[in-house]
Amino acid sequence: MLNKHKVVELLPAKHGHFIGGVYTEPKSGLTYDNIAPAYDINLGEVALGTADDVERAVDAAKAALAGPWGRSTPSQRAAVLKRVAELLAEHRQAFARLEALDSGKPYSEAYEGDIARSAHNFQFFAELTAHQLSPSFLGDDGTLHTTVREPIGIVGLITPWNLPLYLATWKLAPALAQGNAVILKPAELTPLTAMAMGHIFNAAGLPPGVVNIVQGFGAGGAGEALVKHPEVKAISFTGETTTGEAIMRSAAPLLKKLSFELGGKGATVIFADSDLDKAATTAARAAFRNQGQICLAGSRLIVERSVAPRVIEKVLAAVGGIRLGDPLDPMTTMGSLVSRDHRAKVAKFADYAKSSPGVEILCGGNVPSNLSGGAYFEPTVVTGVTQSSRLIQEEVFGPLLTVQIFDDEIEALELVNGTQYGLSCSVFTRDIDRAQRFARGARMGLVWINTWFSRDLHTAFGGMKRSGIGREGGQYSLDFFSELKTVSMAMG
Ligand code: NAP
Repeated sequence: MLNKHKVVELLPAKHGHFIGGVYTEPKSGLTYDNIAPAYDINLGEVALGTADDVERAVDAAKAALAGPWGRSTPSQRAAVLKRVAELLAEHRQAFARLEALDSGKPYSEAYEGDIARSAHNFQFFAELTAHQLSPSFLGDDGTLHTTVREPIGIVGLITPWNLPLYLATWKLAPALAQGNAVILKPAELTPLTAMAMGHIFNAAGLPPGVVNIVQGFGAGGAGEALVKHPEVKAISFTGETTTGEAIMRSAAPLLKKLSFELGGKGATVIFADSDLDKAATTAARAAFRNQGQICLAGSRLIVERSVAPRVIEKVLAAVGGIRLGDPLDPMTTMGSLVSRDHRAKVAKFADYAKSSPGVEILCGGNVPSNLSGGAYFEPTVVTGVTQSSRLIQEEVFGPLLTVQIFDDEIEALELVNGTQYGLSCSVFTRDIDRAQRFARGARMGLVWINTWFSRDLHTAFGGMKRSGIGREGGQYSLDFFSELKTVSMAMG
């Protein structure tokens, strides 16, 4: 088993910004403590970015765009991105350790999931960018019209703490593939893996200033300064819906290009004719993977009445098999929540469930008594919840699964669609017509049939309603991170 103290000893005591290819102190000299949520250990002081640091990052980005990067070709950029992917894969263990310490998630999940997928993001967009076409049309008057892509210039990326490196690289890779210079503001709770990427970018030969990482807070801090900077032409943001609102307000006077991946309230719908074992184990995984802190989490289980008792029993058996504990222990399948503050928020929802008439706690609902320290919370399943309850309508973003029962397909669809969010749902059934009908009826950006969390990076990713604006993934990301220009030439 990895030794947390040994890992922490290897970390520098201070984590600066990464600007112009070098690690640098914040201009203000201010820092904040970065706490490992599973261990209550300080992982070091992190630079508290301000508008001054964002200004330095903008200057570095401008210089990079004026240099060879601004004239680079897609295949040159693809070569650098492939090298980034290789280096990240080589250092997968170290990055997985950092992610586990910083976020509280199990090391094994970070290693198999987050970091492997982060490396794949660079590999994928390196290949995709080299295959973009510039469509041409020969007009009736003989004019040749060609639409070409250009970089936007300086783009801002603002990311959350739940899948820190994975979501940062999901934006970094396409932004770089399209030739932009980037300023990344990672979540204040999980700065480490983004910070370590500076070494990878330098080693891969990315010119200084192409990627700049400014640490610090969002509201009133580096995040807001990035959104308000006139030379940052686009913002790609993943985070809470209300933060999206604030960013949209700040960006409005500057008419910035915005991409928003926001909150979710995913559902797993199980019909009586489905493979109940597979459906129930997938429902438990969808609810509790990453401690339930996934925008795509299936935090609502919606099950047909005739099989509800059997499904609930199977879900509870799967929950009973969860090993809650030390993220660095290879046997752990569920780690700590990201912070004590966040745990307090989740605990409030559990308390609300306990005090709601008719709601029954089937398991969990408490801070585990056998784990001293850390921000752990038990995987919790509750039933008897009405559709209007806060437990259904609000994003808990923690290990709390609600169970609702339906009698027919129309009712199931109404329950699925009956929230402000529209990110994702899964439906389990052996009836292919019903599955397709359900998929068409769900107001969700992502619908899985007999599975969950299955992703192909070519496909559109994002939410309807208050779950987002725009789509990421494959060409959709490349479109966001580029400007289109049509050049028309008379053909003699
Ligand atoms: P958050 O509080 O919205 O923060 C996300 C990022 O925005 C952080 O870097 C944050 O900085 C920054 N920020 C906050 N206020 C800002 C402002 N006024 N201007 C500029 N930046 C600002 O979200 P979170 O708690 O980190 O993440 C959880 C949320 O993300 C959940 O709602 C989840 O559903 C959503 N999410 C969505 C997707 C998706 O693909 N749809 C994926 C993952 C997560 P600080 O860290 O300093 O607050």
